Amino acid sequence: MSNSTKYVFVTGGVTSSLGKGIISASLAKLLQARGYSTAIQKLDPYINIDPGTLNPYEHGECFVTDDGAETDLDLGHYERFLNVPTSQANNVTTGKIYQSVINKERRGEFLGKTVQVIPHITNEIKERIQVLGKKGTYDIVITEIGGTVGDIESLPYVEAVRQMMWEFENDCIVIHLTLIPYLSAAGELKTKPTQHSVKQLLELGVQPDILCCRTEHELDLNLRRKVAQFCNVSMNAVIESRDAETIYDVPLLMQSEELDKVALEKLNLPTKSVPDLDSWNEFVDRLKNPKSEVTIALVGKYVELKDSYKSISESFIHAGATNETKVNIRWVHSEKITKENIDEQLAGVDGILVAPGFGTRGISGKIDAVRYSRENKIPFLGICLGMQCAVIEFARNVLGHKEAHTTEISENCADPVIDMMEEQKTISNLGGTMRLGAYKCELSPGSNVSEAYHTDSISERHRHRYEFNNTYLEEFEKNGMKATGKNPETGLVEVVEIEDHPWFVGAQFHPEYKSTVDNPHPLFVAFVNAVLKNK
Ligand code: GLN
Repeated sequence: MSNSTKYVFVTGGVTSSLGKGIISASLAKLLQARGYSTAIQKLDPYINIDPGTLNPYEHGECFVTDDGAETDLDLGHYERFLNVPTSQANNVTTGKIYQSVINKERRGEFLGKTVQVIPHITNEIKERIQVLGKKGTYDIVITEIGGTVGDIESLPYVEAVRQMMWEFENDCIVIHLTLIPYLSAAGELKTKPTQHSVKQLLELGVQPDILCCRTEHELDLNLRRKVAQFCNVSMNAVIESRDAETIYDVPLLMQSEELDKVALEKLNLPTKSVPDLDSWNEFVDRLKNPKSEVTIALVGKYVELKDSYKSISESFIHAGATNETKVNIRWVHSEKITKENIDEQLAGVDGILVAPGFGTRGISGKIDAVRYSRENKIPFLGICLGMQCAVIEFARNVLGHKEAHTTEISENCADPVIDMMEEQKTISNLGGTMRLGAYKCELSPGSNVSEAYHTDSISERHRHRYEFNNTYLEEFEKNGMKATGKNPETGLVEVVEIEDHPWFVGAQFHPEYKSTVDNPHPLFVAFVNAVLKNK
């Protein structure tokens, strides 16, 4: 069988958290910079249908695509590195695989056969891998297999990889990411865990083509030779992946290790030209040589696990580089903010971002943080729940509706200034039922947002059930909080701004999902710029 699309599988061994997502995204970046259209996909072995219902403490941020998929945060890295939007097809979980196989069984599609892990589950996995290839838009599809080789739940995925390696012999390679730990007592780097990890893959019938070795120290020639010999790979396929100062260095480090060149050779593809990384290098250069520095408070309830706000912190990195400014984030736990300590908690910050979220915990701290930025005229960006808190704060402290709230938290409050969207009221399932994905928004000319975007018509991604209650709109506008962004079809308020303030913007959508290295998000760029000017 032959197939024109080439497949690269990225597996991980020894331990989790080695950064498969960043390695996959870096390789994709290098291949893209050589002129190959490249897609990346993540297969997650857990049984949830998607991470949408997962607590961020479990799995970090839930990333949302244009077509409304709630996905793994690695998809955010893919988009930030490649500047190409991902979709439903880019994140597959065991839950999705089983759901689809079971639905087929109920429809009688297996014609009376016993439905089994092999071949039915593995066939479904192989189909999902090839969906992106079949589109015909991509020369190369990189598939990252979540989890660690040897885990019970990743077995069907590794088996699917084994089968594809066999079926598309010349069109597939496996890159295995491992760890070469340094034992300080012995003063040595140790290759044994890598050898064992490769043996485990071999037991499952998969010979990796390239080993990407995470290490804190340089891998010398002897060590590379040893790894190559024990693991049946060529010397040039032992790639050193040293800890980097920033994830944005990784494509450059992988380029100097020639990961892309070796991968192309093994895929029987011409290396074409050298990768064109001019704009990437320029970005890294600006990132590392800032001319100013600002501190922005990120107020949220998941700040102990910074991955919960991954896209926001990365957006600040992009916007900081654009403004030649180092953005320091002060992580402020919304649950720990009180009226008594707020001055201390937010002392000296140049800007305040109130983060998205769900539920009661930490909400009063978020509302107090909005008040602090409104009264002290500190540039403010509120995202989703952060925008809703801005509306509640304004209703309470400017309009005098002391009982104003969102019905998410206080169902029968006197002034439901944030209320559940009509179409949400009949929904009882939690998974995949919010207002999700890209919606259009019209911006008011002359507003902070229209100045930021340099256009009056935008499209941004959403993930919420509640919205601004339009029965209060006139009262808000008369008193200085304007709706400067609205959905053209439904009239839903998507952006609010306060006029008498250096820069105060609340967005119902999530701008952070669309910021990339090539396209730093205009709202973050404008926010950092306002922070800088106001300092
Ligand atoms: N909990 C709010 C809602 O569902 C905000 C959601 C969010 O911040 N993503 O509307």
